[in-house]
Amino acid sequence: MEQQLDEIESEAQRELAAAAGDRRRIEALGLKYLGRKGRMTQLLRSIASLAPEARPAAGLRANETKQRLSAAIEAALRAAERIERSRVERIDVTLPGRAPLCGTLHPITQISREICDIFERMGYDIVEGPEVEKDYYNFEALNIPKNHPARDMQDTFFVSEEVVLRTHTSPLQIRTMERHPPPVRVIAPGKVFRCDSDQTHTPMFHQVEGLLVDEKVSFGDLKGTLTAFVHQMFDEETRLRFRPSFFPFTEPSAEVDILCVICRGTGCRVCKQTGWLEILGSGMVHPAVFENVGYDTRRYTGFAFGMGVERVAMLKYGIDDLRKFFENDLRFLSQF
Ligand SMILES: [Zn+2]
Repeated sequence: MEQQLDEIESEAQRELAAAAGDRRRIEALGLKYLGRKGRMTQLLRSIASLAPEARPAAGLRANETKQRLSAAIEAALRAAERIERSRVERIDVTLPGRAPLCGTLHPITQISREICDIFERMGYDIVEGPEVEKDYYNFEALNIPKNHPARDMQDTFFVSEEVVLRTHTSPLQIRTMERHPPPVRVIAPGKVFRCDSDQTHTPMFHQVEGLLVDEKVSFGDLKGTLTAFVHQMFDEETRLRFRPSFFPFTEPSAEVDILCVICRGTGCRVCKQTGWLEILGSGMVHPAVFENVGYDTRRYTGFAFGMGVERVAMLKYGIDDLRKFFENDLRFLSQF
C-alpha cells in the first residue's frame, strides 16, 4: 500500500512538472489522479478491503498523499493561469502615456479679461454690480424714463414691476457715480440678459462698460482711448471709424466700426460686403445722467462706451455662430 502511494505521488509530480504552464494538460492530470475514476480515488476505495487493524494507518497516509497531490495540482493550475494572463495582458511600456486633461479658461472669460487688462493699463479700475437690477438703475437714471421708446430696443426680462435682469452693464455708471465724486475712470465687465435668441443673439451674454468723467474731457479723448484699445485688442493696422448713433444716456453718440478683420475691407460674408464690422457703442455722457447723480454739469464732462464680449471674441477668432460659446463642446472650447 505504502509503496503504491509513493509511486503514484512521484509519478504524478513528474507528470505535473512536464505539464508546467499547460492548463489543459494539468486539468487532465487532475482527472487522471483525483477524478471519480482516478488512481488515488481507486486506491482510497481499496482501503476498505484491508484488514480492519491496517485501515486507519493506511487511510491516514492515503489522505495525506491525496491532499498533497491536490495542492500541487491547484498550484500548477494557478501558475499556468498567470502565464496565460500575462500573454494576453502584456504591457507595452514603450506606448506613449495618456496626458491628463487640463482645464482652461472659457474663451469669453479670456477675452473679457483681455479687454479689462488693456483698460487697467490705461488706469481704469474694475467695478462690478448686481445682475438683478432695479428698473431705476437699468433705465430711469440712464435717461430712459418709463414709456420712453428706447426701451423697445431692449427686450427685457422683468422680475417684477420695478426689478429687471439688467439688459446692459450701464447701471454700473450710475452706481459708480453715486458713490464717487469725479474724477472717475472705471471699467465694468459682467453678464447681461435680453429676451432674444438666434444665431447672433443669446438670452445671456457679456458686456464690458467703460466710463470716464473729469474736467475738460472731450470727444477727442473718447476717440483716442477707443483707438488705443482697438489697436491693442486687434493690431496696429486695424482702422476704425465713428458712425453717428443714438443712445438715451449719451449725447452725441457714436457706434464704432473696425475694418473687417476677415477681408481687410474688400467685402465678405462676415461684414455683409461693407468692409466694416460694428464693435461697440459710445458717446459723451448726457447731462441728464450727470444731474441724476448730482455731478456739476458745468464743470465735468465724460464719455462712456460699451461692447459685447462675445462680439469681440467672434471678430477676434473669426467665429460666425454666437451659440457655440454656450454649448460647452470641449472640441470647440479647447481650441482657445
Ligand atoms: Zn469682410
